[in-house]
Amino acid sequence: MNKKYIMSLDQGTTSSRAIIFDRNTNIVSVSQKEFTQLFPAPGQVEHNAEEIWNTQITVAKEALEKAGIGFDDIDSIGITNQRETVVVWDKDSGKPVYNAIVWQCRRTAELCDKLKADGCADMIKSKTGLVIDAYFSATKLKWILDNVEGARAKAESGSLLCGTIDTWLLWKLTDGKVHATDYSNASRTMLYNINELCWDKQLLELFDIPESMLPRVLPSSGLFGKTSADVTGVPVKVCGIAGDQQAALFGQTCFNKGEAKNTYGTGCFLLLNTGDTPHINNDGLVSTIAWGIDGKVTYALEGSVFVGGAVIQWLRDQLGVISSAADSELAASKVADTDGVYLVPAFTGLGAPYWDQYAKGTVVGITRGTNKYHIIRAALEAIAYQSYDVIKAMENSADISLVELNVDGGASANNLLIQFQSDILGAVINRPSCIESTALGAAYLAGLATGFFESMDSIKANKSISKRFTPQMSREIADNKLNGWHKAVNKALSDEN
Ligand code: ADP
Repeated sequence: MNKKYIMSLDQGTTSSRAIIFDRNTNIVSVSQKEFTQLFPAPGQVEHNAEEIWNTQITVAKEALEKAGIGFDDIDSIGITNQRETVVVWDKDSGKPVYNAIVWQCRRTAELCDKLKADGCADMIKSKTGLVIDAYFSATKLKWILDNVEGARAKAESGSLLCGTIDTWLLWKLTDGKVHATDYSNASRTMLYNINELCWDKQLLELFDIPESMLPRVLPSSGLFGKTSADVTGVPVKVCGIAGDQQAALFGQTCFNKGEAKNTYGTGCFLLLNTGDTPHINNDGLVSTIAWGIDGKVTYALEGSVFVGGAVIQWLRDQLGVISSAADSELAASKVADTDGVYLVPAFTGLGAPYWDQYAKGTVVGITRGTNKYHIIRAALEAIAYQSYDVIKAMENSADISLVELNVDGGASANNLLIQFQSDILGAVINRPSCIESTALGAAYLAGLATGFFESMDSIKANKSISKRFTPQMSREIADNKLNGWHKAVNKALSDEN
């Protein structure tokens, strides 16, 4: 009772972080450590699971030290994690049998092509909400069992365990007592049936994965277990788990159907709460479980923009027209508009809703009067146009009309970008005071389970918005601009499209 703090463990792709929040969700302290990225071959990415654990527990202790408190002051721990990355370890020794295979790793792309050629796409989509891709955990897990000597035999005899990073951390925190995950992480494995809420027998057979390896799937908010006193000195409850994007949706308090968030980072990650229905669709968006709480499961549609803030890095590093990402705002504001210039940053093809991996970056509408400010502004606007396209695809898919958008991520600090986003969307945009949505989401999930936070309603009522953007542009002008954007996209698409 009366413990004053919640600890979020935010295990990301490049670093492990621990953030301590007080009851008013003020950040009391943060500690962060990067860890090694392993690239064994082109397109392959691995992490050392022991290093992930070591950095995570180290930052947890450092964050406490910085705050001048101990584990006995922590009400509960929430975990949020890089998704899809998998670890397989020996139940008895606790040692991983191979490095963690990271979500970015493409080593199973050929296997995925084969599954598509074999006509598995519709079956997999209808059960898991996902498109067949090396990104998701199932083929990575199969790869470990097929390629690590002795692994399959051990897995079949029941002596190996597997899990996404949340599961690995939970198992380590509880000193091997708890082997579990939450609905949101399970839904990214391509083995979990998001309609029936169980590991899917047909998929386990298809990927040849023994069910005994898999963690129990629990609600995202609730008691997962207590940490071992050997690890944290005193036992601490672990009461919240969610994958990073879903945790961000929760942290943004998008609790109701039709509420959405967009994270403007290197790429943009959009999630739309679709309530109690998974909208399995054919336009390349994935359906996923947002979270399970209070005996029910909430679903989301997810879409992403490959090149978001990265186009600003490109302006800085390749073109040299700005010296920092933040400079893009002042530079873009030197012109009233792009004067008809559009930049389509299809540097790595185009994702939803175009799905053209051969599309190329394109600039259209250049005249004698075009200057660098027009180009910079066009780059910023492109981030908003691409997000618009994904949001429209989501709205169509779920038959939902978005009223408000909640934003976070590094590039959401750019007022010009977010105002333009509001203008073309014709929707209100909220930028919260606490932009650590991911860690906050994990803290909320944990604190709701223990009573540290009273209710989802009270959390929502107390959410603090730092800036609210309302549409300022007439619909006619916005539609003209969108028309120009879509013409420019057509020029960027490959001939095959
Ligand atoms: P990630 O988590 O993907 O590393 P961050 O959330 O840290 O990304 O955001 C960094 C990205 O945002 C970079 O691509 C950078 O170019 C862009 N960015 C950061 N600040 C601004 C800004 N003020 N205006 C536009 N883009 C920005």
